[in-house]
Amino acid sequence: MNYISTRGKAPVLGFEDTMLAGLARDGGLYVPESVPQMTHDEIAALAGLPYEEVAYRIVAQFTDLPEDVLRGLIANAYAGFGHDARAPLKQLDSGLFLLELFHGPTLAFKDFAMQLIGQMFTEAMGRRGDRITIVGATSGDTGSAAIEAFRGLDNVDVFILYPHGRVSEVQRRQMTTPAEANVHAIAIDGDFDDCQAAVKAMFNDFDFRDSVGLTAVNSINWARVLAQVVYFFTSAVAVGAPHREVSFTVPTGNFGDIFAGYIAKCMGLPIDRLVVATNRNDILHRTLADGAHRKDGVEPTISPSMDIQVSSNFERALFDAYGRDGGAVRQLMAELSDNGGFTVSQGALETLREHFDSGRASEEETTATIRDTHARTGEILCPHSAVGVKVAREHLDPAVPMIALATAHPAKFPDAVEAAMGDRPALPNRMADLYDRPERVNRIANDLSDIQSFIRKNIAS
Ligand SMILES: *Cc1c(COP(=O)(O)O)cnc(C)c1O
Repeated sequence: MNYISTRGKAPVLGFEDTMLAGLARDGGLYVPESVPQMTHDEIAALAGLPYEEVAYRIVAQFTDLPEDVLRGLIANAYAGFGHDARAPLKQLDSGLFLLELFHGPTLAFKDFAMQLIGQMFTEAMGRRGDRITIVGATSGDTGSAAIEAFRGLDNVDVFILYPHGRVSEVQRRQMTTPAEANVHAIAIDGDFDDCQAAVKAMFNDFDFRDSVGLTAVNSINWARVLAQVVYFFTSAVAVGAPHREVSFTVPTGNFGDIFAGYIAKCMGLPIDRLVVATNRNDILHRTLADGAHRKDGVEPTISPSMDIQVSSNFERALFDAYGRDGGAVRQLMAELSDNGGFTVSQGALETLREHFDSGRASEEETTATIRDTHARTGEILCPHSAVGVKVAREHLDPAVPMIALATAHPAKFPDAVEAAMGDRPALPNRMADLYDRPERVNRIANDLSDIQSFIRKNIAS
C-alpha cells in the first residue's frame, strides 16, 4: 500500500515509512493512494467477531506486515484494556447508542491508536536495528496515552512536554507515575503553546533531530487514524450494518477521530451522516456552515481536549473534497498561515456536506447533558462525550441508528462531572491507587537548550 501527501510534493512512501515520518516533507499529511474496498459480505462477516480479529482484518489491508507479526502486535496492544469488548456499545435511547472508547490504560480513546503504534514502532525499530526518540507536546490526553503505550518498550525513548500546573491531576499522574527509564514527562514553565513551540523548534534543529532520531506520534500520524477506523466497523455491525445504514457523532478537535470514520465509509461501511460535534471552539462547525475557515482565539472549556483552532487532520478531508489536488491544498494552507483563514470553494463545500454535518454545545448545554443523561440512563459522561451526545440528539433520524462516541472516562475530568451532577466519578478499580503511586517530575524552564540537554542526557545509548 502506497501513501501520498495532501500537498503533492513529498515522496510516495509505504506504510512503515509513512508511520515513521509522521508529517510529510512538503508539510502535508499522508493518505492512502487508494482506499481498499470491502464487500457487503466481508463487512457482514465482521459481526460478532472479537475486537482484535476485526482490527486485524481492517489494518492488514493498509500495511505490509506478515500476518503472524501483525496479529501479535494487535494482541499486545489491546491486552491491557479493562473491558473484554474493548469498545463496548451501550444504548442510551431509542435509536441512540454510546460507543465507550475509554476502557484503555489512560481512559481516553487515544489509547486505541497509541497502544497499537507503540507496538508497531518498537517492532520496526527492532527489525531495523535502530532506535528513535519520540518527543511530543500535550495538553493532557495524548501525552499520557503515549507514555503508557511506550513504557518499557525496546528501542524507543519518549519525552512528553506538558504545561506545568495546567493539566488535570489524573492526566499529570498518568504521565509522572510510570517508573520505566525510557519514558519522561517534562513539566515546562509555560503554556501548551510554549510546549508545542519547543517541539517544533527541536524538529527544525536538524543537527539535534538527526543525532537523537527524532520522531512524532501526534494526531496527524496516519497509523493513528488507521487504528481508529476499526471501532467504526465493530460498532456499526453491532447495530445492523451492512444491512442498514448507521450514523456517527464524533466530539472533534483535530478531526482525527471523525476522519477515521470517513475512511471506514470510503471502504464501504454504509455510514449515512458523520456529525462533527464541537464545543465553543467551533471553527469546524462554522466552516461547514458557510465555508469560511477562520481562526479565532482558543477559549478554555470544560472539554479541554477539543480546545483547538488549528484542526490539522481537516487537511485530509479537504484533499478529497478538492478532488485530490495537492496544489489546491497547498494554496489553502498558505492562506491559513499567512492570513489566518481561507474560504472553501462551493464545490468542495458541497462534497464535504455529502458526508459531514455539524453541531456545537455551549458549556451550559454540556453540563445539562451530563446531568440529564445520568438521570435518564445512569450513564456518566465526560464533558467531551457530553458535547457529542448533545449534538447527536439534534441529528437523530428515526430510520438510522446514531452512535455517539464517548471519548474519555468521566473520572478523567472529575471537577466538570461533579459540577454537573453533584457526585465525583470514581476511577476504575484497576487504577484506584493512582493517587498513591510515587511521581517522577522533571520540571524545566521554557528554554530550548535546557530541554535539549535533558533529552540528550536521558536517551539510552
Ligand atoms: C483528543 C480528544 C478528542 C478530540 O479528538 P480528535 O481526534 O482531535 O478530533 C476528544 N475527546 C477527548 C477526550 C480527547 O482526548
